[in-house]
Amino acid sequence: MTSIKSVNPTNGKIIKEYPEMDSAQVNMIIERADLAFKTWKNTPMAKRTELLRNVGAILRDRKDELAKICALEMGKLYNEGILEIEICASIFDFYADNAEELLKDKAIDAKSGEAFIQYDPIGVILSVQPWNFPFYQLTRSAAPNIVCGNTIVVKHASNVPLAAETMEKIFIEAGAPVGVYNNIFVPGSKVSEYVNNTAIKGATLTGSEAAGISFATSAGKNIIKSTLELGGSDPFIVMPDADVDKAVETAGFGRLWNAGQVCVSPKRIFVTKDMAEEFIMKAKKLYESVIVGDPLDPNTQLAPLSSESALLKVISQIDTAIEEGAKLIIGGKRIGDKGAFMQPTILTDITKNMEAYSDEIFGPVLMIYVVNDVDEAIFIANDTEFGLGGSVFGKDIKNAVEVARKLETGMIYINHVTGIGAELPFGGTKRSGYGREQAEDGIYEFVNKKLIRITTPDAIY
Ligand code: NAP
Repeated sequence: MTSIKSVNPTNGKIIKEYPEMDSAQVNMIIERADLAFKTWKNTPMAKRTELLRNVGAILRDRKDELAKICALEMGKLYNEGILEIEICASIFDFYADNAEELLKDKAIDAKSGEAFIQYDPIGVILSVQPWNFPFYQLTRSAAPNIVCGNTIVVKHASNVPLAAETMEKIFIEAGAPVGVYNNIFVPGSKVSEYVNNTAIKGATLTGSEAAGISFATSAGKNIIKSTLELGGSDPFIVMPDADVDKAVETAGFGRLWNAGQVCVSPKRIFVTKDMAEEFIMKAKKLYESVIVGDPLDPNTQLAPLSSESALLKVISQIDTAIEEGAKLIIGGKRIGDKGAFMQPTILTDITKNMEAYSDEIFGPVLMIYVVNDVDEAIFIANDTEFGLGGSVFGKDIKNAVEVARKLETGMIYINHVTGIGAELPFGGTKRSGYGREQAEDGIYEFVNKKLIRITTPDAIY
């Protein structure tokens, strides 16, 4: 029987194996979720928000254990894991606090009679998620969907089955009725076929472009709504008035967050010619001092990548960039032969003909572009198929905001790398996907915004 394995990227050892589910098991789980929907959609809002609060409280109580699961299963630094769990809890709280208000009938100022929108849940949502934030990714789709009355079937990435199983158990412990939150163990190559199950009424995926195309195609064929949160190659524009030390620190450490495996990591840094030499020198110095090691060691600043295959892919992307003419300032190699450790890396001199210009590099690789001026930075920043997040770093906030307005992404952060907040919508444009998660927007993605209009039979239109 094929199994889904949890493997520790620090030492390559198998932590736990789970048998892959066959289609009969998966369809049974989808039907269970559909049955649960019939009751859950009519369950009073107070009960639904209570479930969310309970999940949030359990996450907070067990954050040490859950952060360790992230560290063991995909190499996340322990402290980053703690932060991730706290953010998850805050998202559950946000929807527990706001769902009733957000989902109450919305009056429309109709020309005659009365009209309003009622927000109805639509059914079972199939959610496919990546491994890079093992609990946060599950939270983003689970919290708004469950509170609005949908039920959810979740297919987590195959390298984080322990997190997937743990989240399902947390929902049960929090009091979720059977079938409201359901985990399935299937490989990504097979999940799109389950969109054909007529009980599935919405499809959401976070991951690579290839996975998004496959999944959204199935959704389109079945005429169900989808949302996609895909890759990014976020620009980080250093304005001429920026404090160079602060910019280096923010971009440099921002790029090492989660070992560079963040969709909204500052992957392309833009600096003007006059400050380029200083910036590159200081960024190199910063990366020379980075402590690489065990994610559970509190001194570690850069943990291993999530898997051996992830490491090999990043190294090969760097090699290709160098072959194509990019300049390696520091790093570029794996560290040791045990565990998926790699050196923090800086590349410069990237030009349009190189793969690195247009591909996402999912690892600790800072690509620095030296530009003549901010207009050229904006041009190159937008010269990509991606449109997820980005940053503008500078002292004059008015100028920075003007630059932010010109960038073609879903999110721009001034003086910070793209961050996360329960109340802040998250999502991209262009080939980074469509739809929004978190915040107010997240709750409206998979509801039927039903118009009810009241007039009298003899009303004049
Ligand atoms: P991936 O291979 O696409 O995996 C993501 C999820 O999709 C996994 O559950 C995977 O299952 C599944 N999957 C794989 N192939 C599929 C297919 N053909 N049809 C349907 N599902 C499929 O992505 P990854 O490379 O591991 O993850 C990193 C990517 O996710 C990066 O591009 C990153 O930028 C992006 N990401 C985006 C966001 C965002 O919010 N925009 C957030 C986090 C990550 P298996 O594991 O079983 O293959």
